Amino acid sequence: MHIGNYLGALKNWVRMIDQYDCIFCIVDYHAITIEYNPADMQRRILNAAAVNIAAGLDPERCIIFVQSYVPEHTELAWILNTVTPMGHLERMTQFKDKSKQHRENINAGLFTYPVLQAADILLYHGEAVPVGEDQVQHIELAREIARKFNMRYGETFPDPVEVLSDAPRIMGLDGKTKMSKSLGNYISLVETPESIWKKLSTAVTDENRKRRTDPGNPDICNLFTLHKYFSRKEQIDRINTVCRTAEIGCIECKKILSDNIVEALAPIRMRYEQLISDPDYLADILHAGAKKCRDIAVNTMTDVKKKMGLR
Ligand code: AMP
Repeated sequence: MHIGNYLGALKNWVRMIDQYDCIFCIVDYHAITIEYNPADMQRRILNAAAVNIAAGLDPERCIIFVQSYVPEHTELAWILNTVTPMGHLERMTQFKDKSKQHRENINAGLFTYPVLQAADILLYHGEAVPVGEDQVQHIELAREIARKFNMRYGETFPDPVEVLSDAPRIMGLDGKTKMSKSLGNYISLVETPESIWKKLSTAVTDENRKRRTDPGNPDICNLFTLHKYFSRKEQIDRINTVCRTAEIGCIECKKILSDNIVEALAPIRMRYEQLISDPDYLADILHAGAKKCRDIAVNTMTDVKKKMGLR
């Protein structure tokens, strides 16, 4: 999890857990669609649980579990494959991007990834799916798959809709593409203060500002966007003025941002350290979550199969 995930999605998840019955899924079956190290998978799953819980997904107030613990996800995905037109999947920009990133492993799982994602949602009759902008196309597809299934087999699934945060697309520290783990242009939610500063100190700002004495333009500075989410109003207002008059340099401006990000992430990092040192506790949460999900998933599959004449 990086600060793009946090601002684009996770903050919304935390806000929503008291408004809705929320289910959060650590998607290991999605993770295996690209090359990975099997020996590292369990550590990554526990890590994902720890970061998400540390950032506010209180397991007392929502369900959190691992996708592969509930086999109905892949069972429903197979069924949904049969109502999903190939042409729709071919249009998915994430598939195109990932195919470029993983040229030597463009597998069928990567291609049908959005169908499994639709199953993740529809298995629980999900109505609202809080995501970043990059996932909107997949949610639209899930909606279409739900409608196609309903038309063919009778009303079964609600129309899932995407819920965007006020920061649906955070750019990476390179200022060129969206913040993303695979591109290495990110600040992790559990990054150390030293590393936050190291990454920010080389981050791209307004590229037209070549010298300290040149005036800058916060409107096109990616780091000013981050200030808007992490800094105090008076700091944002001041930077918005003194950057334009070159009264503040990028280094000083980055230092303020770094201090504010460190301060915002400190409680998450502290809680994360506690959680990750107790893997049994995390495993219990994930198994308890999966148990609740299975009860719902089994009911959905009984209904789905009955409607399809499969039982
Ligand atoms: P991922 O781990 O890439 O599947 O992302 C988890 C969530 O964070 C998804 O809802 C994404 O849409 C969202 N997200 C990922 N990257 C960004 C970004 N750079 N800005 C805003 N939201 C993002």
